[in-house]
Amino acid sequence: MENIDRALFVPAGLTPYTDSPLPIGYNATISAPHMHATCLELLKQHLQPGMHALDVGSGSGYLTACFAMMVGPEGRAVGIEHIPELVAAATENAQRSASATLLMDGLLSFHVADGRLGWPDEAPYDAIHVGAAAPEIPRPLVDQLKPGGRMVIPVGSYFQRLQVVDKNVDGSVTVRNDASVRYVPLTSRSAQLQDS
Ligand code: SAH
Repeated sequence: MENIDRALFVPAGLTPYTDSPLPIGYNATISAPHMHATCLELLKQHLQPGMHALDVGSGSGYLTACFAMMVGPEGRAVGIEHIPELVAAATENAQRSASATLLMDGLLSFHVADGRLGWPDEAPYDAIHVGAAAPEIPRPLVDQLKPGGRMVIPVGSYFQRLQVVDKNVDGSVTVRNDASVRYVPLTSRSAQLQDS
């Protein structure tokens, strides 16, 4: 996080270094720094050099850029976001950041897609992060997790828990609850834009 400057990922005029979420348009927010830090801590064993990481609901692109720095030039970091304007913004933000070379080389990439379906092209993933709250854990994301891999995902509607989903080497899955959290919903594009 010291290498990726949050100021480059926050709309102009907002205070980038306060520890709170900030609006990035389209009913989306960039998460608070402490949430980014929490998720990076939970995933750090699965963001080692050479590993594959998926960021669902990549929004500003901040956390995806951090993933790219951690997995390095032998790894892959993929951001999936269903608002095309946010994918364009995330790409521009990353271009100005320390992750620019990884982006240019295609090792960090952002795509417009429904994140509930994951991104099979770079699967299986060592690490999956979901940046929006799902009513339940989407099956395709579990399927795209590598045995030994870990997913961090907020689950719930009004009351949400950050869940840590570990796929064991025998393919079985263990889920544990971490902190209580408050994320925007993982939903359809039309539902998200409805109340804007
Ligand atoms: N980690 C991001 C969080 C952005 S907020 C950041 O810190 O910048 C959550 C994001 O999830 C929003 O950008 C929203 O547009 C996106 N989102 C919600 N539902 C989605 C879906 N079904 N597929 C892809 N992205 C989705």
